[in-house]
Amino acid sequence: MGEIQGSPVWDHSTDIDDNSTQHDADAVEALFETVCSTVERFCQLDDTNTNPGIVLAQSKPPAELYWQAVHDVVELSKVEKILNKSSFMHKGYKNRRGLIGACAALAWEPAVDSARRAPGRTFELIAYRDRARWGSERVWDPKSAAVLSNVIPTSFDNYDFQNDIPRILPHTPCPVLYGIRGTASGELPRALEVVNTEESVDRWVIFETNHASDDHIQPLQIRQFQPYQSVQLGGGVTSEPMVMKGGHTFFELKDAEGDRVICAAYEPTKQFRDVVKGLIPGDKIVIYGGLRGPNGSNGDLFTGSDQKVPTVNLEKLEILGLEKEMGKVSNPRCPSCKKAMKSIGTNQGYRCKACGIHVDESAAEFAPEARKLELGFYEVPPCARRHLSCPIELFNKS
Ligand code: ZN
Repeated sequence: MGEIQGSPVWDHSTDIDDNSTQHDADAVEALFETVCSTVERFCQLDDTNTNPGIVLAQSKPPAELYWQAVHDVVELSKVEKILNKSSFMHKGYKNRRGLIGACAALAWEPAVDSARRAPGRTFELIAYRDRARWGSERVWDPKSAAVLSNVIPTSFDNYDFQNDIPRILPHTPCPVLYGIRGTASGELPRALEVVNTEESVDRWVIFETNHASDDHIQPLQIRQFQPYQSVQLGGGVTSEPMVMKGGHTFFELKDAEGDRVICAAYEPTKQFRDVVKGLIPGDKIVIYGGLRGPNGSNGDLFTGSDQKVPTVNLEKLEILGLEKEMGKVSNPRCPSCKKAMKSIGTNQGYRCKACGIHVDESAAEFAPEARKLELGFYEVPPCARRHLSCPIELFNKS
């Protein structure tokens, strides 16, 4: 599963749920001490958002903890109860909330469900930098990320071709050189030959992950929405799309119960906003996206009131039905003399020059126009994708 300065790294071959495989207590203690001292040596405790947690377990915490963590908010007290009831070795630093993520990660088991479109798990090969390089600029050839999907067809999100942005390098001063995601772990090491960096890879490891699993998404009705959830919701478009300052684009959706939600495609979602701008009232769609925190309401953009209408930050949408869009074909004929009538001005109707008769806008001749959108899925480009969100190309692939 990896290499450290040329030496192979192996994963365990025993089932960690098998409680008969108890390891030597001294060895476990020594491992725990090694992990703690390594975290203490390298973590940046002066950062308010750094609150590490370490959990060492010889059996899994309940899977329900993972699902609650990925769907909702988990209180530290709940995790502490699990830790105290079990024999898990653990250590939390500062506000100790890192214990929640550590314990939830151990609780994770890839979902196996034939009805799922998204994979239950994917893999990521992480290549690390030599310590002397940490914090320095990464010198590399971004074009080498663009060819990865040809060399390793089971890899994904290497390069955003729509926006010409490579996706495999972090932009932080962390020890990671790059990360390659894929659905077949055995094919990932080929990336080491393809990604062209000035520095050599000091070490690499393949992780099993929930990236691209869509595990965060819950099918919910609007009246069930809670802050921070990610939701799947079917409904009808009830407003023309509205483009705000900065290019942020919004429309309103009503669900089967008649409740309303504001759907947002913010500027970083780039070309996805063109899809949203192509929607019209009456379109039947399913949206996928995240709700903001408890104070994250826009009010009601579409009535201008302060009423709190939830806003979903869209990740993707599926178009199930397209309303007929009617376009004007010609001006109306005068009901009296049958001559073509003249427009008085935008939305002011038509008048017959000869008879003086006035008719309103709707008297013109309309015919259905071709829609630019088709039925099916649309998604944000890779540069705007959250790591749990499943790219459409991976649907039904495993
Ligand atoms: Zn007339």
